[in-house]
Amino acid sequence: MFNEKILENYARLIVNIGVNLQKGQGLEIICPVEKYEVAEALTKAGYEAGAKIVQVRWSAQNIDKLNYENAELSILEDIPKWYVDSKNYLVENGFCYVAISAEDPSIFKDISPDKIAKIYQARSKALKKYSDAIMNNSIRWCVVSYPTSAWAKQVFPNAEDPEKELADAIIKTMRLDKKDAVSAWQEHINTLNKRAEFLNFSNFEYLHFTNSIGTDLKVGLADGHVWQSAREKAKDGVHFVANMPTEEIFTAPHRLKVDGIVKSALPLCENGQIIDNFSLTFKNGEVVDFSAEKGYDTLKNLINTDSGTKRIGEVALIGKNSPIAMSKVLFFNTLFDENASCHLALGKAYPTTVKNSENLSEEELTNLGLNDSVEHIDFMIGTPDLCVTGIKKDGTKVPLFSDGEWVI
Ligand code: ZN
Ligand code: ZN
Repeated sequence: MFNEKILENYARLIVNIGVNLQKGQGLEIICPVEKYEVAEALTKAGYEAGAKIVQVRWSAQNIDKLNYENAELSILEDIPKWYVDSKNYLVENGFCYVAISAEDPSIFKDISPDKIAKIYQARSKALKKYSDAIMNNSIRWCVVSYPTSAWAKQVFPNAEDPEKELADAIIKTMRLDKKDAVSAWQEHINTLNKRAEFLNFSNFEYLHFTNSIGTDLKVGLADGHVWQSAREKAKDGVHFVANMPTEEIFTAPHRLKVDGIVKSALPLCENGQIIDNFSLTFKNGEVVDFSAEKGYDTLKNLINTDSGTKRIGEVALIGKNSPIAMSKVLFFNTLFDENASCHLALGKAYPTTVKNSENLSEEELTNLGLNDSVEHIDFMIGTPDLCVTGIKKDGTKVPLFSDGEWVI
């Protein structure tokens, strides 16, 4: 769907800025099976950058669907040891990892939300070591997207050529329409870094979110929290960009200090099912009440996955004038939609969002306020009228957002 030149630039951008592959490193790619050309372009770019080996794992949601429909739950919950070992191998051998996220947002809509939840929970539990390695930047990783037919039809149902429309939207948001995409990215990274520096310097105790649809939420920040943006540092000291596109600046909330009510600003697509017009009420960091006009059971299952999915592990700020928000496209894909709107995430916090985290034990991280879970589910709260105020320990109030956009 991308022309040859753009596909080549896309693959190079992901390999060189995204995972920032170093000479002699292994690369794993997860790619939808119908988009063979993307895996091929990434493999070429990987070897061009000096990869020692590139391996591709194909994803096929239609096959997953047949399995979920026909196989017994007990079989689907039994995650084979070889599969878990093959993921842990990547961490143990210093691979980096690219995932092409291009799911059909409602492919599993006719399968029981309970069955889907149990399958995903079993997988998350089996892969805890691997997902922890991703969350604490033990390996460098990058999630990107590529248009697929089923996904494009949901985003642009009335278009003559939905895949082409989606391709154009992805090209714009990834800055692949710029003459030099690599320097456009470097400039973008610098802009985000400056705001993150201001927030780090301010060291707010909590943020207060309000809007006209009823959000009134205080989000306490973890002790020693650090605001991060596009460019992160992996454990080996090498920088990488984990999401492309990315517009967010994010940190860790304090797991016990979230109070009030928050309303969703966009639908949430999780595991091939859609949750819409929902609200969560928090007390001392925990969800004590919730509602949803659509997907109530899916939301209920998510919240009840483990004790950590009742609390939040991320707070992220994105202005309504970001290129993704300006596109006014609802992508039904978290990679894009979370970058169009301020968001929170139920579940695990990124350990890298507190100072000196690499030298701290799990218990010490928890004491600082970091939440733990097998899940991390972003949901969007940034309406066009959202106000965000930062409050310091001495009570000083600093307006950060007015009418959905940065004021600093
Ligand atoms: Zn985020
Ligand atoms: Zn997140």
